[in-house]
Amino acid sequence: MADLRMKSVRVQNLIFEKSIPGRIGSNVPKADTPEVDLKEALGATRKELHLPEVGELEVMRHFVNLSHLTYGIETGFYPLGSCTMKYNPRINEVTASLSGFKNIHPMQPESTVPGALEVLMSVYEILSEITGFDEITMQPVAGAHGEMTCLMLIKAYHESRGEGDKRKIVLIPDSAHGTNPASAARCGYDVKTIPTDKEGNTDLAALEAALDDTVAAFMVTNPSTLGLFEPNITKVCELVHSVGGQVFCDGANMNAMVGTTRPGDHGFDCMHLNLHKTFSTPHGGGGPGCGAIGLQSHLESYLPAPALKRKDGKAYFDHNRPHTIGRVSSFYGQFLMAVRALTYLLAYGKEYMADISRYSVLNANYVQALLKDVLPAAHPRPCMHECVLTAKKYKEHGVRALDISKRLIDYGFHPPTNYFPLIVPECLMIEPTETEAKQTLDAFCHALIKICEEAVSNPDILHDAPTTQIVGRLDEAKAVKMLDVAWKPKQETANV
Ligand SMILES: *Cc1c(COP(=O)(O)O)cnc(C)c1O
Repeated sequence: MADLRMKSVRVQNLIFEKSIPGRIGSNVPKADTPEVDLKEALGATRKELHLPEVGELEVMRHFVNLSHLTYGIETGFYPLGSCTMKYNPRINEVTASLSGFKNIHPMQPESTVPGALEVLMSVYEILSEITGFDEITMQPVAGAHGEMTCLMLIKAYHESRGEGDKRKIVLIPDSAHGTNPASAARCGYDVKTIPTDKEGNTDLAALEAALDDTVAAFMVTNPSTLGLFEPNITKVCELVHSVGGQVFCDGANMNAMVGTTRPGDHGFDCMHLNLHKTFSTPHGGGGPGCGAIGLQSHLESYLPAPALKRKDGKAYFDHNRPHTIGRVSSFYGQFLMAVRALTYLLAYGKEYMADISRYSVLNANYVQALLKDVLPAAHPRPCMHECVLTAKKYKEHGVRALDISKRLIDYGFHPPTNYFPLIVPECLMIEPTETEAKQTLDAFCHALIKICEEAVSNPDILHDAPTTQIVGRLDEAKAVKMLDVAWKPKQETANV
């Protein structure tokens, strides 16, 4: 903690505030080209531009110190539920940066990239085997994009049967990720919410009551966002099919099932996967992502074009797709993610593939068990890859889930997901993933146990947290509504 505080001091000034008039970064030989008048070229003198005047070493220290404040999976535990923040082995990056992969151009003729097509096809074949779906496409570039693509396939399917006008409703559980209703609305559907029952499963009676021939699809997450496997999933699929609806699986939680059980065998018609969660691509700030989808053969003819197929042992793009929904992204999605996924999948191999889900489920249950007295599970039964806990008993001490999470930062841990799913009061959603060691989980749980003691004995410590960071507790409403991140020189501000 002391170390962090020192780092905070070093970077608490902006680089502009470190400026000393006349100081320069490096000496450049006098140019033999005509000098340009900055005022004329940019409409401002150098002084008016307020460029920082700093030495090279100062610049270096400033940015290196800033970079040390970044928290990532390489610096510490990152139990952000639903996000699967696992460690992504560096070998994935090594293969993704091989020049034969990274230097090919998406507009190269197909005949010059048979190796790349083979990589894509190999990932399809493995994902198809893992998920139990007949077809895979990696064109969608995010999980939400995969959801939307699946709904577009479902829509095309209903339209082909002359039922497009009649089927206007998409059913979604009240525990769903916010992207589900957004994807449905984006495809022009009306959303109807299906409640979760006391055990944390889909309320079957409510589902049955909502089913009729206006239903286009049921979008269900399995394991659910409560971290629970839906024990009635086959029944759910049967019920929806009985009225002619389709069932979509939000597969962002596939980490709980890899190598162990296959959604394609549960009765789903299609699903999306998050390669940037389960299949080991780092989550970037908004990308690159890949929301690969799997689908059964009755949806095949609507696949985004071109469809990747294999014939006589060779992978090729089939452009002759009269019923396609069209392209959903330029070129063929994020190709280097296929390289990373293939590396990851082959490194485990068929033999060890199930270790991914076994250890992720074991780790989540270990955390749930260690914390049961201080932070009980919202639904006390064995969980899958994440546990969803409630901090509601600390409300009487004026402490909320958010305060507990903020205090965790002082103990050196990234907080879990807060207040999602929405149906759990004072919700903390912890996803340890399979790549964490028991010692890390012990240290994390002990920190949480201590924090829960503090919540009772000294709640203000939690309200003031975090106190070890360069930025303390923000007023989140103001940060959204009155965001002001523009730096203004002090003197000028005074003059305004
Ligand atoms: C992450 C996630 C999504 C959306 O994935 P993005 O790639 O962020 O669009 C959808 N559903 C669930 C359950 C998720 O965890």
